[in-house]
Amino acid sequence: VEMSDRETAMELPPHILIFPVPLQGHVNSMLNLAELLCLSGLHVTILLSDYTHNRLLRHATLRSRFSRHSGFRVATISDGLPPDHPRVGERIVDMALSLKQIGGSQFRRLMESTDGLSEGGAMRRVSCLIMDGVLSFAISVVEEMGIPYIYFRTISACAFWPYFCIQEIMDAGEVPLRGKNEDKLTYWKKKEMDMMVTSVPGMERFLRRRDIPRFFGVANADDPTFKTMKTDTKKTVEACGLILNTFEDLEGPILDEIRKHIPNLYSIGPLHALLKAQLESKGMESSHNHSSSFWEEDRSCIAWLDSQPTCSVIYVSFGSITILTRDELLEFWYGLVNSGHRFLWVIRPDSIVGNNSENWNEIPVELEEGTKSRGCMVGWVPQQEVLAHPAIGAFFTHSGWNSTLESIAIGLPMICWAYFADQTTNSRFVSKVWKIGLDMKDTCDRIIVEKMVKDVMDVRRDEFLERAHSMAVLSGKAISEGGSSYLNLNRLVEFLKSTVS
Ligand code: UDP
Repeated sequence: VEMSDRETAMELPPHILIFPVPLQGHVNSMLNLAELLCLSGLHVTILLSDYTHNRLLRHATLRSRFSRHSGFRVATISDGLPPDHPRVGERIVDMALSLKQIGGSQFRRLMESTDGLSEGGAMRRVSCLIMDGVLSFAISVVEEMGIPYIYFRTISACAFWPYFCIQEIMDAGEVPLRGKNEDKLTYWKKKEMDMMVTSVPGMERFLRRRDIPRFFGVANADDPTFKTMKTDTKKTVEACGLILNTFEDLEGPILDEIRKHIPNLYSIGPLHALLKAQLESKGMESSHNHSSSFWEEDRSCIAWLDSQPTCSVIYVSFGSITILTRDELLEFWYGLVNSGHRFLWVIRPDSIVGNNSENWNEIPVELEEGTKSRGCMVGWVPQQEVLAHPAIGAFFTHSGWNSTLESIAIGLPMICWAYFADQTTNSRFVSKVWKIGLDMKDTCDRIIVEKMVKDVMDVRRDEFLERAHSMAVLSGKAISEGGSSYLNLNRLVEFLKSTVS
């Protein structure tokens, strides 16, 4: 007997649409969630920009990673920018604005089309949308269609919470209202940036004004991006729930503050580690061959690491968006070489801008010997594999949330040089709350770099390592059977299964 499309559709598992902001960090964590949901028997479509999808196909093993999950699909929309538009540094704002402008109509067409999200010929109505909380143009479409949605913010709880409280921070006068062109260094030196923020409950003892998440320059109440973050984040209360890539033992008190406003909170991190554990428990390969890198991974660094002594190398990487001037690069370079320690340094080819950027990789004469004998500089690495390598002793990071969690899960001390957004809060928590590293904050100075590298690699190594190790143990517990993240993922899956339409 031939089944009608409708009957066929009814027998299929719920179909979850996952929609990340098309940037590396967001895509990494959402793909990890997508794979976990596939493992739980759900059907998943991930919605990417054409640009991002092409990059993933070019450089990553997305196909082999997901070919083993029959219910996985990719759908795409355009981000509206030409392919050669730089999607790094401040220019990511162009992408956000462009998506905001043209994303809504494309999203509507996709949701209403019968082939965009089809499954074996039968229209696969989306049962639930899991979306990045800053893509609010999608909400009206799913609301009209009666499709429930859950937010997944790929930042830490400790950064989400000040975003949620922006109005209170503004009312208390704890973010400045000043012109955009204010010189940022002069401004940052002002004493008021060291004052404690009193308007974010639960953070009164450690959040300073300079730690408030911000876009470019200082956190500025007049800035349109800051304002969008405020309105979009407040909308979280209207969603069916909030997913955060974190775990209870890491951010429990802050998660409790958030729960007062958003009771249905799923803390399911560290997602990369939860995924690895669940793949292994099903006897499936969780190897590094299944990456989602936008850039080509240079594996020569693994051979280099193999020839270095245990815990002797500091891994330096500032993620996928950070850009540096040649002057800043030199401060790091001198600091690293003068520390006398070995270093593996990721410098994305598109990350150096401004004066002399075309000669960025010219080695200053006095750094030549130290760089060649102790350093390895590459364009992009398989980061999780690098962090797990026995030769690595610490992580010099920009405090992106994925990098921070990857470091925490493996028990590595950190030096933090936050660039923007949630990173400024994450770095404060690393140094003052979890005490597993040092926060360079908004300084960029070779003397400080040298001292901090010596501190984490040597002078204060044991104290950082001990606490980092304890946190890694807690992270392992959270993702193991019966742990908080493990149970929250089960709860999420149950909810998603109940949304079948
Ligand atoms: N990453 C990588 N290779 C590199 C540098 C980074 O695979 O050479 C990955 C890293 O493991 C992390 C992501 O890129 O998962 C960066 O995300 P994060 O949230 O740390 O920072 P963002 O790039 O979003 O600022």
